[in-house]
This record gives sequence, C-alpha cells and structure tokens, in this order.
Amino acid sequence: MNWFNDFLNKVEFIRPRYMAPLFVTLSLFFSSLLAPFSSETLVHTFAKPEGPVFSGEKLQITEDYVIVISENATPAEKNAAEKLKGYFEEISGISLSIITDKTQETVKEIIIGKTNREGNSFTIDRTNLGNDGIVIKTVGEKIVLSGAEQRGAIYAVYTFLEEYFGCHWFTHDLTVIPKAEKLEIPKVIDYTYTPSIIFRETDWISPARSNEYKAANKLNDGVYGIVSQDYGSSITYAGSFAHTMAYLVDTNLFETEPELFAYGKDVYKRTTDQLCLTNPRTLELAIQGVRKWLSENPDAKIISVTQNDNQNYCVCKNCRKIDREEGSQAGTMLRFVNAIADNIKEDYPDVMVDTFAYQYTRKPPKITVPRDNVIVRLCSIECRFSTPLDSGAIKENDEFVEDIKKWSEICKNLFIWDYTTNYSHYLSPFGNFDVIQDNIQFFAENNVIGIYEEGNYTAIESDGEFAELRCYLLAKLMWDPYCDIDKHMYDFCEAYYGKGAQGIVDFINYIDENNGGIAVDMENWWITPIPNRIDIRNGLTIYAPASSVTVLRADDEDIAKIDAMWKFAKDGAETEEQLENVLRSEICWRYWKACGYRSEFRDIESRVVENEKFYNDLVKFGITRLNEGAGGYINTEKVDFNLAPNKWK
Ligand SMILES: [Zn+2]
Repeated sequence: MNWFNDFLNKVEFIRPRYMAPLFVTLSLFFSSLLAPFSSETLVHTFAKPEGPVFSGEKLQITEDYVIVISENATPAEKNAAEKLKGYFEEISGISLSIITDKTQETVKEIIIGKTNREGNSFTIDRTNLGNDGIVIKTVGEKIVLSGAEQRGAIYAVYTFLEEYFGCHWFTHDLTVIPKAEKLEIPKVIDYTYTPSIIFRETDWISPARSNEYKAANKLNDGVYGIVSQDYGSSITYAGSFAHTMAYLVDTNLFETEPELFAYGKDVYKRTTDQLCLTNPRTLELAIQGVRKWLSENPDAKIISVTQNDNQNYCVCKNCRKIDREEGSQAGTMLRFVNAIADNIKEDYPDVMVDTFAYQYTRKPPKITVPRDNVIVRLCSIECRFSTPLDSGAIKENDEFVEDIKKWSEICKNLFIWDYTTNYSHYLSPFGNFDVIQDNIQFFAENNVIGIYEEGNYTAIESDGEFAELRCYLLAKLMWDPYCDIDKHMYDFCEAYYGKGAQGIVDFINYIDENNGGIAVDMENWWITPIPNRIDIRNGLTIYAPASSVTVLRADDEDIAKIDAMWKFAKDGAETEEQLENVLRSEICWRYWKACGYRSEFRDIESRVVENEKFYNDLVKFGITRLNEGAGGYINTEKVDFNLAPNKWK
C-alpha cells in the first residue's frame, strides 16, 4: 500500500508521549534481536530495549535462494513456506522455489520447520519450545525459520515478515505488506522465544474471521475460530468452554432426582441453578457427561467443568460442611473436579479438566490442591480496570491479588479470564489501555499460563469503540507481555485510522488518565447500597454507568479539546475505510456526551437533532446493541430522540 510506505518515510510525524521516532524504535528492536533471547529475559520491566544499534551489516535474499521444507513437512510447515514465498513476491517481486530436503544441501537456503538440515551446520533444541516457541537465525548465508513442531514454523515465518519487512495483519481484512526493492535482513540473527502464556484467546471481531489473523498474531485458542491444520491447529475445548454444569448433568432429571441439584443458598430449596457437588450420583453423571463430550471431540485438549453463571450454590448439609473446612466454596468444587480428573486421566492423558475460580469460588481452598491435569481459570470480574491490579490502591484489586498469589502456589495450570469492555454500555469509552500491559505482566509473573481476554464478543454488531485495536494489542501482549505496546499501538492506528492517528492516541491517553472517579449511579441512587455510594476508592468496573466520572471526567473546556482530537483524526483519514474506522470509533465519544447531556446534547432542541444523527449513524454502522444480554438491543420501533441513547431499549 503506497500511502503506508509514504507514511513510513515521514518519521517526523508528531508522536509525543507514546512513541520515539519510528526509526529509533525499529533499530533498537532489531538490536535486541541480535542478542539471544531466553525465557529469563522475560523479567524486564516495560521499557524500550536498550543496547547497541544494529550495525548495518546485512544479508540479502536473492533469487538464487531456495525455500527448504522436509519431505514429510506438516501442513503448517508447507503453508509457512508458501506464505513466505507469496509475501516475498508481493514485497519485492522476487520469486523463490520451494524444494524438499531430499535435494542436496546448498549454501543459500531458507529452511522452514524441522528438516534433515538440522545436525549439520546447526541444531535446534526443542526441549523448552513447547508447541509455540520460535527460532529465527542465520547460519552463514542460511536462514532458519523454525521452532516447536506444532506451530513454531508458521509463527516464525509471520514474526520474520513482521519484524524485518514491516508486514502486519492488523485485522481480518487489513493487512499491510510494504514494498521493497531488496529483501534484506540483518546478517546475524539468533532469536529464540517461547511464550510463557501457552493459551491465548480473545474474542474481539477478527480472530473468528481469519485463521491467518490468528496465526500471524499468535492466538491459539479454538473457541473464537478453530485454527485449521495448515495454521498449526488450536487448543480446543470439548463441547462448551464455560458454565458447563447446566449441560453435563441433564436438568430434566430434576423432577425425578432433585437431590442432584443445588439446595440453593438464595432460594433455600432445590434448584437447577447449580449442582449438588457432594452427591456421589451427581459426580457419576458428570463423569458420564464429560466422557460423552470427550468421545465426541477426539481432538479436544480441555474439558470444562464449570459452575453456572449465578451465585445460587448448594448449601445442603454435606456441601456446607466441606465449604467450612476449606474456607471457600472452591474446596467443594475442586474435590468434585479432581475426582473427574482422576477418572479420565488414564483414558485421556493429554486432556486437562478446566474449572473456574469465579465469584463464590474465587477464594482458594485451605486444604484441597488441584490435580496436575486440572486447570483453574481465575476470573477478574470484580476488579477495577482504571489502575493496575497490583497497584495497591483499590480494595477489590488487592483482594484479587491475594487470591492469585495463593492460587499460583497450589495450582500448576493457572489460567485467567479477564475483561476488557463495559458490558452495561458496549458503546462507552473504556479507559484501560494503560493498564492492560501491567496486568498481563502481572499475570505472567504469577505463574499464569493461559489467558482469555474477554471483550465485546458481539462487537461485529455493536462496535462503536476500539474493537480491532484492542484485539491486536491484546494478542501482542499475550504472546509477549513485555513487547513494545506503544509501537504496536502506533503501527495499528496509522494503518487503520490514517494520518490523523495522533488524534486517536490522544483520546485514548485522555480516557486512560481521566477515569475511575467515584461511581454514583444517580438514576438508581436510592437502591445503590450506601457503602458503594461513598467508596472513594472506587474505579472503572465492567458495568460502570455510561455518563459517570468512573468512565470519564471532562469539563466543557476538556470536551472542546477532545472534539478537536476527533477532528484531527477525521481530517487525517485518507481512504474511505480509514474515515469509516474513525467515525465508528468516535461513536464512543458521542455516546458519552449524549448519555450525560453534554455539549451539543445539552439543549433540548439540538439534543433531538443530534440524537437523530447519532441514531442514523448507529444504523449505518450496523450497531444493534447497547449492552450484553437479550435486553441489550436497540428498540428500533420506539426510539425517542428526547431521551439519551442508553434509554433506547
Ligand atoms: Zn449439596
């Protein structure tokens, strides 16, 4: 894309705060690749890499190079070779042949995946590469793009194209492949990287729509888009991935065997809301359910045994007794899950049994320890996302920190279910961009090996904020929690929004720095419990009121400044797509103003006009929802433009 090259050449473009000039960043990044990477280097704090600037000695990939794969190459290795060939042609017009390792070894080879070339001039130690680790190195004039057998080759090729040729897979339909006359790389590369987060999932728009997007950005879950074999396959769950207890034991049995189900704490009678986990017959049926799902999904690597999405857990005498001994409902849960894990271990040695530490099971038990084939997914739903989890400034976050530390001591396979949007107001700004890297680093440093960053999973029909940007950044962070997130943000914004990207970044900086105030829901103040109303340490929750200071603080002067940021972004858009991207993201700003009756939405006459314009834009962008759940749809039959948009339901 010409506009992108043109843009890259103008590195003097204003980019305060977030980023040093592009060429400095890139050269520092290359220099960091010169040093061998080991997993120990993951302990960096977030800072731009320091060290000698790349000396400039280069290796040129000329037409006499060949791409070599094994005669028995996997579908992913074959695809990796074809992708490299195709993108090299697109970048430079240079076309290389793909041959197998049956042919005689020559000097100028690009070796992809596991081949018989290993053992001669170089070796690859795969002991610590897991399924995703990559190796990129030069050996004389040879170039090795390899790594773990499953996804190493395909990941190495995408990393190679990204780091040395500036290729990016920003969204499922926005790929940037810059042109170059020569294919040049540093002469000496020796880079090995294995991610410590081995399960990486997020559900914002693109992953479910493109296998290539997932592979290029290293999302390896099979929940939002199953990754095909030619992209290295994904880690899939058998059956459902969450709240499975409603299905593992048939609720139709309630009539004849009510004691299988919870004696609910909230209703004080048997209910299908949850199961009774101490009834041996419940366990027997759950094991049958688990085995059925596993037999129907032979490729699955995880089976989820997870509580339903309510708090009505069993308080029968037996369950209560264990809860008391363990100091947490997680004890009862874990004993149940461990028994299932023991039962399937021999028949399914590669399958993990997954459960939640969620709401009433979040606190770790005193006695029971998860089995080695159990995953505990700790959920951060109560947390505040305006400050890092471990900042010590917010009570709810302090409690989460305490729990994660205890879980990390007893749990070998600790996963996180994290949240990255406002579920009561999908269209509201959510100022957590300056927190996500701190939090993902915090997870990694507390032995977390799997992360699901839940976003607005309906964003395809309700994205009025930064869905695609969020997805891209979260993927980069899960792959490498210590990556240069500012560089990724700028790369993305420049391509997606155009030359006015600085306006977008300024707005993001603004919402990051001006949120988390005292949350008082003025409309419902009489039902808000008093402690919640006066808690001065409140922060940004995933259910924050749309127009509250929790979401954003801005006086009239600030509003004018922010309007100018959006104008700058709109003026800078050079293509129709970029302008549309800016306007779609601007919805969040207009939504905030409209819900708070601010600026052009203040006076009744202009409010009606502006609301109608706003509504028409929602329709134009295909935005159908305001919040999560069945009741979150805009009622198009009955929109009153006198009312703020959050009332259009
Ligand atoms: Zn019970």
